[in-house]
Amino acid sequence: GQERKRKKAAPTKLTFEQIGGQESAKQELREALDFLIRHEEISKFGIRPLKGILLTGPPGTGKTLMARAAAHYTNSVFVAASGSEFVEMYVGVGAGRVRELFKDARARAAKENKESAIIFIDEIDVIGGKREGGQQREYDQTLNQLLTEMDGIYNSDSPRILIIAATNRKEMLDSALLRPGRFDRHIQVDLPDKKGRKHILELHAKNKPLQAEVNLDKVAEEAYGFSGAQLESVMNEAAIYAMRENMEQIGQKQLSMAIDKVMMGEKTDRESTL
Ligand code: ATP
Repeated sequence: GQERKRKKAAPTKLTFEQIGGQESAKQELREALDFLIRHEEISKFGIRPLKGILLTGPPGTGKTLMARAAAHYTNSVFVAASGSEFVEMYVGVGAGRVRELFKDARARAAKENKESAIIFIDEIDVIGGKREGGQQREYDQTLNQLLTEMDGIYNSDSPRILIIAATNRKEMLDSALLRPGRFDRHIQVDLPDKKGRKHILELHAKNKPLQAEVNLDKVAEEAYGFSGAQLESVMNEAAIYAMRENMEQIGQKQLSMAIDKVMMGEKTDRESTL
């Protein structure tokens, strides 16, 4: 639907501190990014430069946030696209868009005087799915163009380029994408545990008035299985309930109602697509 095709808004500065939970994923990502930063040592040791990182995990867990934080951490320009943007009726258009994306990244890095660029491709499975079924030729050309661009990255010349891709269907990806020198570093971005959920709720409560009695531990417990995106919705819906009831601050009750609403919303969404 529309949601899948949305363009990512121009990013403002986003740091790892603004991402709740995901401690091990953040740590793994930072370690991988040090390869981009310590490029001189990397080449001294003859280590192959890291070109692609694949973030895998369910929707709304913060994969896009991670890619943006990665750009901030490495002082890189950030260029984003979604796999669904490359899907076109006409053969060759998708491949052209891939070329444009890399051109854009290089141009922006030059303009902004940055030594590196991070290209984020969300829903990589849309172009990098296993090669079977219809629209074969179009998908092949798009994917081949991406592989060609990746193979052409030599991180010694400026700007150094790192591609971060996201998918919630890793098992669907064509093995060509996963080969060494391509997306050979995988980081799992899972649904948050209770501690992570609380952290995410706290981050999204920062700009909202909460009653002193509110127990976010309890909210985190009730929101079992929620993604970061759903937790953001919970905070927002609770604020709307409080405003409607002419309250000064958000209370525990509004948060519980918001949890129910977000849970129900998901259910009706799913039913309507069945
Ligand atoms: P998709 O696979 O659907 O693109 P995603 O994993 O890329 O999802 P994001 O786009 O990063 O998810 O997250 C969507 C929104 O949910 C964020 O803008 C943020 O408000 C909230 N969110 C998700 N995860 C977190 C998190 N770990 N900490 C704080 N906020 C989060």
